[in-house]
Amino acid sequence: PLLKPAYQRVLLKLSGEVFCRDGEGGISMSELESISAQIKRLVDSGVQLAIVCGGGNILRGKQFSSSSGSINPATAHYMGMLATVINGLALQDALEMAGVATRLQTAIRMEGVAEPFIRRRCIRHLEKGRVVILAAGTGSPFVTTDTAAALRSREIDADILLKATKVDGIYSDDPEKNPHAVRFSEISYQDVLHKNLQVMDAQALHHCMEHGIPILVFNFRKTGNIEKAVAGENIGTRVIP
Ligand code: UDP
Repeated sequence: PLLKPAYQRVLLKLSGEVFCRDGEGGISMSELESISAQIKRLVDSGVQLAIVCGGGNILRGKQFSSSSGSINPATAHYMGMLATVINGLALQDALEMAGVATRLQTAIRMEGVAEPFIRRRCIRHLEKGRVVILAAGTGSPFVTTDTAAALRSREIDADILLKATKVDGIYSDDPEKNPHAVRFSEISYQDVLHKNLQVMDAQALHHCMEHGIPILVFNFRKTGNIEKAVAGENIGTRVIP
C-alpha cells in the first residue's frame, strides 16, 4: 500500500551517486530504474515533487580543475553543471518510461533539450502533478547542487528538503572511518555548523536555516526509504531549527 505523504510539496536532492553503482561513475540503467520506480510511488501518493540532480557521478568542478591544470576552475564548474543535465535527461526518460509525467528545467538555457527554470512555471507544473527535474544547479560556478537544492526549496516553498545519500544520516564522525561514530536522529542547523559536520555546504545550510526549511538526510539505497521520508518517518537525520 502507498504511504500517506506528510508533506504537500517536497524537494528531493539526488546526488550524482544515485545514478551509478557504488564506487563507479557514469549512469547505471538498473540504478536509474530502481530510483524511478521509487519516485513513481511517491507521485502516486499525491505529493508534489521537484528533484534537483547532482552531477558528481560524471564530473565535479573542484576536483576536475585541480587535477587538470589547463582548464579554468570556472569552466570546470560549468562542465559539472552540464553533467547534472546529462543526469536530468536520463532521469526524465526513465521516469516517463515508468509512467510519470515530467518536465526538465535548467538553470542554463538549453532550448531544444529543456525548459529554462522559471519559478512560477515550475510551481504550475508541480500543481498539475508533474515531477519537475531541475538541472544545471544554480547556473553559477563555485557552488554545488546542494546550494541549488536549498535555493529552489525556498523559491518553490517546499515543505522539506530531502537529501538522498548513501549513508544513513548524519554521524558524529565519518562512519566509514570511525566505527564509534554515532548517528544523530535530530540535530540543529547550528550544531551542524559548529561541529563542522560534512552534511552539505555551509551556504546551502544557511539558506535552510534562515528560512526554517527542515532537511532530512537519509539513505536512498534502502528500498522504500524515499517513500518513508515523504510519509514523515525519520529514517535518517532531521536537521531542524
Ligand atoms: N555546480 C556549479 N554550480 C551549481 C551546481 C553545481 O558549478 O550551482 C558544479 C560543481 O562543479 C559541482 C558539479 O556541478 O561539483 C556537480 O554538482 P555536485 O558536485 O553538487 O553533484 P553531487 O555531489 O550532488 O553529485
